[in-house]
This record gives sequence, structure tokens and C-alpha cells, in this order.
Amino acid sequence: MTDDARPPRRDRAGFPPTRKSLGQHFLTDRRILTRIADALHLTGSETVLEIGPGRGALTDILVERAGRLIAIEYDRALAEILRTRYARRNNVLIAEADVLEVSLGELAAGPYVLVGNVPYYITTPILFHALVPPRAERSVYLVQKEVADRLSAAPGTKEYGALTVNVAAVAKAETLFKVPASAFSPPPKVESALVRITPLPQPLLNAEEERPFRLLVQGAFGMRRKQMRRVLRSLYVVEAAVADEVLQGASIDPEARPETLTPAQFALVLRAFSARRSVSS
Ligand code: SAM
Repeated sequence: MTDDARPPRRDRAGFPPTRKSLGQHFLTDRRILTRIADALHLTGSETVLEIGPGRGALTDILVERAGRLIAIEYDRALAEILRTRYARRNNVLIAEADVLEVSLGELAAGPYVLVGNVPYYITTPILFHALVPPRAERSVYLVQKEVADRLSAAPGTKEYGALTVNVAAVAKAETLFKVPASAFSPPPKVESALVRITPLPQPLLNAEEERPFRLLVQGAFGMRRKQMRRVLRSLYVVEAAVADEVLQGASIDPEARPETLTPAQFALVLRAFSARRSVSS
């Protein structure tokens, strides 16, 4: 028998070996699983998208509370197990896919909420991916505590960065509670925290501004020790005098560093540049 023909190894509960490369740390603490589901405030009618259901510990709770549940799992063997487990439920879809390759809004095809004990090797890309409209009505993520700290960081701190600013421009991020490594099997090397992200009723940006804003913010934090004058000269290929005019027009010191600017100030810089471009074109 060749390796490929051999049936995959399974443990006593029928699960395949844990794949650390896929960030597989399964939550085993029932109380914490329940608190994660509670944080979504489900009323029974919502479409719930779950990222990385794994062995289905959280999924088992969500199926009882959701109107419709769509779970996106990359690991083929786990996706098959869940498909079999929920085969009799016609409101459950197990999508075998890389979450970063899926349009969450298209998959939901209507309003949705998002939840996941996400794989830590791609936490930040997942958070950015989930910012693409149409966004979830609310999202609850279990993430490394360090990422939770970045989401709620204040300007001028070392945790404050492109993730903080991009999320804060369109949503409110709250850290709800910490989760110790002992709540997982196998335990991760880091402490975790549950965060909830809720879109702002009045975001700082309109839909067309979101992409250029992200490019500005990511570019600026790529040069976080440089002064804003230098940052704008390099990102927009303009003279120092133009950069100064834009910054002073937005009441920002041209010598300020990106890490001290608030999300609203980044939005002002973007708008000042757009206004200047539309005048000169
Ligand atoms: N939700 C389960 C729990 O709480 O026990 C599992 C959480 S585990 C931290 C992350 C899950 O995400 C794993 O099941 C893993 O296979 C899955 N995963 C990893 N990369 C993925 C990707 N790119 N797209 C979708 N799922 C992924």
C-alpha cells in the first residue's frame, strides 16, 4: 500500500493528527466557548460565519443559536468530519476553503456576523480581510493578546500601528476578556484575548476612500520613525513644500511621526491630498 492509499491516521475520537502549521489549537474549555458565543449576542435569526471551526467545539454551540451557519475550514479532513456531523441540518454549510481567498460578504449573501478562534499565523491578514465591505454587523475573534493590545492601542504607543488605525477608522474594537493558554489543546505559546469589532454608525471614511486610506496608513507605518513630511514626499512623490502645505492645512506638524497621528488626522491628510489633486487635474 502506498502512503497516499493508506487511510489517514485518526485518534480515539476519530480526529486526524493536529496540524500545527495550520495554527490548530483547539479550545476545550466549555465555559470559555460559551462566553465567546454569548459575545455575539445572537437572536436566532442571524447568518453566522465562523472562521476555522476545527473540531467544531464552538460550532456545536453556534448551530443552536444561529439562523444559518457557514463555517470556513481549510483542513480537508476536519471539514469532512463537520460535514458529516451536521449533515441533517439544512441551515449549516461547511465551506472547505482558505478564508483569505473567500469574499465573506458574497458567501453570506446578506447581513451576517463573524466569529472565529482564528489561526494565529494569519490573524492580521484575517482582520484586514474582514474589513472589506460588505462588513459583518459585528465580529468576535479570539486572537493573541498582543493583537488585542494593538487593536485598542493609543497613538504614540509602540502597539499603535496600521492595524489599529485601519480598524478604528471604520469600527470600534473592544477587548472583552483574556483566555489562558491552558484553555486550548495543544496550548499555544501565547496568552489570548477575545475581541469584538463593531462597525461605527458613521465611519471616518466613505467607501471610495477606504483603499487609498489603507495604502496611506500602511505606507506611513512602514516608515514609522520618519517625519510626516518625508512620508508624504515618498508616498505621493511630491516636493517638501507640497507635503508641508497639505499637513499644515490639516493642522498637523510636518515633523510629526506617523505613530502620533490619530485615525481622523490620517483621514484629513488623505482628503487634503485628494482635494489638491482634483484642483490641479
Ligand atoms: N474553532 C476551533 C476551536 O476553537 O477549537 C479551532 C480553532 S484553531 C485555532 C484554527 C482553525 O483554523 C483550525 O481548524 C485550522 O485548520 C483552521 N485554519 C487554518 N488556516 C485556515 C485558513 N487559511 N482558512 C480557514 N481555516 C483555516
